[in-house]
Amino acid sequence: MSRPTEILIHRRALLENCQLAKRLSPSSNLVAVVKADAYGHGVQAIAKTLASEVDMFAVSSLEEAITLRNAGIAAPVLLLEGCFSADEYSIVSQLNVELVVHNQQQVAMLAKSELVNPVNVWLKIDTGMHRLGIAPENTVYYYEQLNKLKQVNKVVLTTHLASADSQDSTFTEMQLRRFEQAIEPLNQDCEKSIGNSAGLLAWPSSRSDWNRPGIMLYGLTPFDYSHIHGDQLRPVMSFLSQVIAIRSIENGESVGYGNTWTAERPSRIATVAAGYGDGYPRTAKSGTPVLVNGQRASLAGRVSMDMISIDVTDIKQVGVGDEVELWGQRLHANEVAKWADSIGYELVTRMPKRTKRRLVD
Ligand SMILES: *Cc1c(COP(=O)(O)O)cnc(C)c1O
Repeated sequence: MSRPTEILIHRRALLENCQLAKRLSPSSNLVAVVKADAYGHGVQAIAKTLASEVDMFAVSSLEEAITLRNAGIAAPVLLLEGCFSADEYSIVSQLNVELVVHNQQQVAMLAKSELVNPVNVWLKIDTGMHRLGIAPENTVYYYEQLNKLKQVNKVVLTTHLASADSQDSTFTEMQLRRFEQAIEPLNQDCEKSIGNSAGLLAWPSSRSDWNRPGIMLYGLTPFDYSHIHGDQLRPVMSFLSQVIAIRSIENGESVGYGNTWTAERPSRIATVAAGYGDGYPRTAKSGTPVLVNGQRASLAGRVSMDMISIDVTDIKQVGVGDEVELWGQRLHANEVAKWADSIGYELVTRMPKRTKRRLVD
């Protein structure tokens, strides 16, 4: 036997979340975003499960695209930041990989490369996020440049929304307007790609030819407080461990490194075999909810590398070997994240290799 700390990956939940993404925008193509090891879920299992359901996968690097090919994934793969160096283009064209192009340097490198097949290029327009993309007024110039290249098969027009997770945002409407204005002079039927999960869930006008959801596929809502379709999303990751020790302490005794938590009554403290070395955030504050046998307990004191301590005074019959859920289907990662000054995205994505992942139905 081994240390009881593991992540379950719920296949059926993943498929249901994917079905929701399709139902919301039935005539669109679906690009499943699986960058950063599928947001920490383990890209091979995630991509294999989704392979027959989606039209394309999106990643951040050629290495991540090659991982998908090595796993037997045949679907097109999109590089969200495009290529970083000239030597990548020929590999891209051999692997049925598509490219974001977001600056002049990438156009120049593409124009100089020798490709076995012309590639599909996603021209990224900066409509207000100011992270990647060409200025909207240069859209026609770039589009025509790219279309003339023998290395280019087709050009898809794309942008990224900066605050689609905020419902009352006029910013999203402004971005959508800028996008339409930028592409309008092209006056032709170009394929478009705008929305991420928040766009797809909350902004119908951002749904387009290619939707690019990430977080919602993993069953986490991108929204902080609202619950747009939140009840229809099912978390794919359960982060589980066990109680490995239990003790009673007196009023006034403290727990953990730095003695940052002190008992204000006679207390029962359970030690759990999961810490920041397993992916539990060290920034989680005392009081962070933790489930023991499905009941709520709370973090007491600092997170160690391999362990946490929890206050189980108000829970009956806790013993060594009892099941602990750090987050998952009964305790939302977003709720834990708030106690750690983070977001659900970061918690799941930072899961280290050390923590075993197990695919379940
Ligand atoms: C990561 C990413 C997405 C997915 O975003 P979610 O909020 O996880 O849905 C979509 N598009 C781009 C360009 C991205 O970088």
